[in-house]
Amino acid sequence: QKQPNDLSAFWMPFSANRQFKKNPRMFVSADGMFYKTSDGRDVLDGTAGLWCCNAGHKRPKIVEAVQKQVEEMDYAPAFQMGHPKVFELANRLRDMAPEPFNHVFFTNSGSESVETALKIALAYHRAKGDGARTRLIGRERGYHGVNFGGISVGGIVNNRKMFGSLLTGVDHLPHTHLPENAFFKGQPDHGAHLADELERIAALHGPETIAAVIVEPMAGSTGVLLPPKGYLQRLREICTKHGILLIFDEVITGFGRLGSAFGADHFDVMPDLMVCAKGLTNGVIPMGAVLATSEIHDAFMQGPEHMIELFHGYTYSGNPIASAAGLATLETYVEEGLFQRAADLAGYWEDGLHSLRDCPNIIDIRGMGLIGAIELEPIAGEPTRRAFQAFLDCYDKGSLIRTTGDIIALSPPLIIEKDHIDQLFGTLRDVLQKLQ
Ligand code: PMP
Repeated sequence: QKQPNDLSAFWMPFSANRQFKKNPRMFVSADGMFYKTSDGRDVLDGTAGLWCCNAGHKRPKIVEAVQKQVEEMDYAPAFQMGHPKVFELANRLRDMAPEPFNHVFFTNSGSESVETALKIALAYHRAKGDGARTRLIGRERGYHGVNFGGISVGGIVNNRKMFGSLLTGVDHLPHTHLPENAFFKGQPDHGAHLADELERIAALHGPETIAAVIVEPMAGSTGVLLPPKGYLQRLREICTKHGILLIFDEVITGFGRLGSAFGADHFDVMPDLMVCAKGLTNGVIPMGAVLATSEIHDAFMQGPEHMIELFHGYTYSGNPIASAAGLATLETYVEEGLFQRAADLAGYWEDGLHSLRDCPNIIDIRGMGLIGAIELEPIAGEPTRRAFQAFLDCYDKGSLIRTTGDIIALSPPLIIEKDHIDQLFGTLRDVLQKLQ
């Protein structure tokens, strides 16, 4: 017998499924900094949904833009013909991005943007007659979505080990989170030398075989791992020296999270390709993008015949409703100065975060811009249990946090007020002090 409130039909992303079905939690509406639960409680959003609602929830400008677009034109293909909104959005995004990024390719998610960027990198080398460059380099603890390219270059072994060889010719740089880095504010001092591992890999295979290196400027999903000072600069230098493309996955760091439009601005290191999604439409409608320099774009356009014939695109790439949402979102960021706001609040945020260091069971705290992580000592034999209990207790007390393993990750909407920051860290203090 099928019941209307039966929860079994919806298959949640794999690892979350079992726990949720035991203890379902439902949000039924959202406004500004808060979700409303099905039992009528307000829950402070300490995570901007899944790191995506950077302008907060139900923002009138974005809601109206989407409503208007649905009434005007629901769908139009963005191949062989166009519609004005997608051009406007591409221009707006180009203006927001750092100087060298003149071309925008739209996708529907972070994962699709990653696949697209990897394909662009390989095809670019081919277009230049450098087809031997096929190797890709990722990073341990890097996260680049769940599709086959993304899990190949991604550094989470569990996500790829059951799927055979995946993309071949992939190496991983060591992750940069060293024991000396515990409890730091700002960027850690140690670990820039780990970028030199790229030289070793290049020497091993021959630098002329390597197409691209992909890294998150700051690894988000695997626990907010900040790059050591000088690490990204060194990667850039080595890539430039060997003609390797550098791809920044800015799916989390894009759109103000660190107090600048992109992580590339914040760390003052320019990649060759930039991947974004999430905050592009404030989480309202799925959309992602790859930003490319003119050099990369032009290699395609002027490349040999097979490049021009290569098809890559998605049915919903640059669709009108997502484009309208994206435009209203980028306008909201600019009109409300939200990136600067994140930079202005970063000190207050970091102080609040580090004020928790006397709570029990904490082995590390780190943060930057409006992002932070509290790493808990795992309970022997029961990894993830302690952090998950913190998540449940915070939820009961009206604050939404996110956990990855035994790491609590925080990334609130950039409209957050100091009162909300106090509420979030106050709740965390109560919860962490009582946590077994
Ligand atoms: N790259 C990074 C850095 C991400 O954080 C994520 C999502 N957390 C992705 C890619 C994948 O994005 P999506 O879930 O939209 O496919």
